[in-house]
Order: sequence, then C-alpha cells, then structure tokens
Amino acid sequence: MENQRNTKQKKFILSILKEADRPISANEIYAKIITDLPKIAKSTIYRNLDALLKQDIIDKYNFNDNETFYLIKPDNDEHRHFIICDDCKKVFDLPSCPLHEIESSIEEEGFIIKEHQIQINGTCKDCAQSLKKQG
Ligand SMILES: [Zn+2]
Ligand SMILES: [Zn+2]
Repeated sequence: MENQRNTKQKKFILSILKEADRPISANEIYAKIITDLPKIAKSTIYRNLDALLKQDIIDKYNFNDNETFYLIKPDNDEHRHFIICDDCKKVFDLPSCPLHEIESSIEEEGFIIKEHQIQINGTCKDCAQSLKKQG
C-alpha cells in the first residue's frame, strides 16, 4: 500500500514538472498537487524531487533567493538559462546561451568545463511598469 501511494505521488509530481515550460519551485508544485492529493506533505515533495535529481530526470536551478527551482531535462543536449523577476518571481527564458564562444576559448587553453550557470535577476517588464505607475 505504502509503495502504491508513493508511486502515485511521484507520478503527480512528474506530470506537473512535465507540464511546466519553465522551472518551478517546490512550493508551486505543492500548490498544484494539493487539489488532487490534499494529504501530501511538503517533505514528500522534496523527497521525490531529490530522487528525480539523482535519477537525472530533472535539473535544479538556484536563483538569488534560496528557493530552488526544478525543470525536466530536455531530450536533446540543449541547455537553457533563465532570468527571474525579483518582484513576481516569474521565470523567463534567456533566448540563447551566450557562453559558447567564451567556453571554446577557455577550452583552447586546456581547461575542461563541466557546466556553467548564468544568473540574471531583476524586475520584469510588467513589474517595472506597475512600479512606474505607483510613482
Ligand atoms: Zn515581475
Ligand atoms: Zn549556457
């Protein structure tokens, strides 16, 4: 019984991650899952996310505050970068990775790069406009 329940929880978490087109936080997952599984604990969500990370099914992203965001790994090798709005916490895509050229020049020097991260945060267009309105 216990295992069946665990599988169901994991399936739900995975389907929420698959539907998301941007990284989402454990809190967002919790808010979505609670309508279907009202008894689920946040710790269960974290435990499942950890397991998915270990299985290499999802990636995690850390932005400037200590909240961690999760995204399903793409089928191809293309990695993505994101920008987060400090005000509404919405996550936006960086159109392309600007680091390829820099990486190749570093690798020409013999350095082996394993991964890189880009962190950009600020205020999105919508929030910037409403800030202006408030004066
Ligand atoms: Zn915003
Ligand atoms: Zn990149």
